[in-house]
Amino acid sequence: MKIHEYQAKELFARYGVPIPRGRVAFSVDEAVEVARELGRYPVVVKAQIHAGGRGKGGGVKLANSEEEVLKVAQEILGMTLVTHQTGPEGKVVRKVLVEEGLPIENELYFGMLPDRSTGTVAVMASSAGGMDIEEVAAKEPEKIVKVNVDPLLGMQPFHARQLAYGLSLSPELTRQFVPLALNLYRLFIDYDCSLVEINPLIVTSDHKLIALDAKINFDDNGLFRHKDILAYRDPDEEDPLELEAAKYNLNYIKMNGNIGNMVNGAGLAMATMDLIKLAGAEPANFLDVGGGASAEMVENGFKIILSDPNVKGVFVNIFGGILRCDVLARGIVEAAKKVEVKVPIVIRMEGTNVEQGREILNQSGLNLIVATDLKDAAQKVATIAKN
Ligand code: GDP
Ligand code: MN
Repeated sequence: MKIHEYQAKELFARYGVPIPRGRVAFSVDEAVEVARELGRYPVVVKAQIHAGGRGKGGGVKLANSEEEVLKVAQEILGMTLVTHQTGPEGKVVRKVLVEEGLPIENELYFGMLPDRSTGTVAVMASSAGGMDIEEVAAKEPEKIVKVNVDPLLGMQPFHARQLAYGLSLSPELTRQFVPLALNLYRLFIDYDCSLVEINPLIVTSDHKLIALDAKINFDDNGLFRHKDILAYRDPDEEDPLELEAAKYNLNYIKMNGNIGNMVNGAGLAMATMDLIKLAGAEPANFLDVGGGASAEMVENGFKIILSDPNVKGVFVNIFGGILRCDVLARGIVEAAKKVEVKVPIVIRMEGTNVEQGREILNQSGLNLIVATDLKDAAQKVATIAKN
């Protein structure tokens, strides 16, 4: 789960990580009100969306007077902000963070994330802050310093000092950096984060380290023990179909292609997506209805796939183990009767009661393309994709 910058900064503040003064505003009037509270110019008005690259996209602006705050808040609130992370359709801005503008002397990068290959937390810092860190890693990897922290031992002051030396920080800045790094690590662990990132972490002209930006992602599997974080959820930022699927306990992720697919079991779902690509098409989603899916789950999954306007064809690929093929077939027929199906549907199923299942599909009177096996299914999907 992702949260907004202003929410991440609330957590930073609770963990003693220095942030600029300011608060979130939901209207132009409120933005002006926050600027008055700050009592000093410049102020920065920052679009709050779940995507980075806002600065380049025109979503972060400085204002030097109340009139300018009014003007930039009007520009940013309600705009469709397009960044390299939003995709071409962009995101509508519904709130802004209004903060004191700080004099920047230097921009650093600081971040941490799980390193699965070593089972550690990779803590990284770079003197090339404010830039896309992936780009720095590709072009100037020597500018990134990294320590791997064993989660059983936790981050120690020497880890933080090692990073500070790597950044060539002065003793004065090192004294600020060490507690900042340790506090951020505590936050990372306490909240089961999958990413905590400050880009840029700035050095102000009066030599203070301050988190100018804040990004936190949480491991969804840990959210059950962080009810306070669930309150940060912003449905406006989430895909409406994914929200709908979550209601029914379906593992659904929307993707960019046009062949919808419904599969039981994550492994089979991955293999099916490969198959779709092999057939020259692109999957419109990942959907695992689960091994023990009921007819109702199949029906709900089917409805969600069909409500995606990009879907030009559907591939149902089910192995009937716990979920018997006849139950599956009935679920599909029921769903197809309830929603208007305008796209071709290829079905491949195998397993328990497969004959009965095929019989139900064949006699349903629906326009279903029943494949005999996986290879046959792939060819049929390829045909759909070409039309
Ligand atoms: P992102 O583009 O979505 O990562 O948004 P950031 O929060 O990183 O802001 C983008 C850029 O805006 C920063 O790298 C800074 O250069 C600039 N910026 C943000 N806040 C301030 C500020 O208080 N003072 C100054 N001078 N620049 C700022
Ligand atoms: Mn940033």
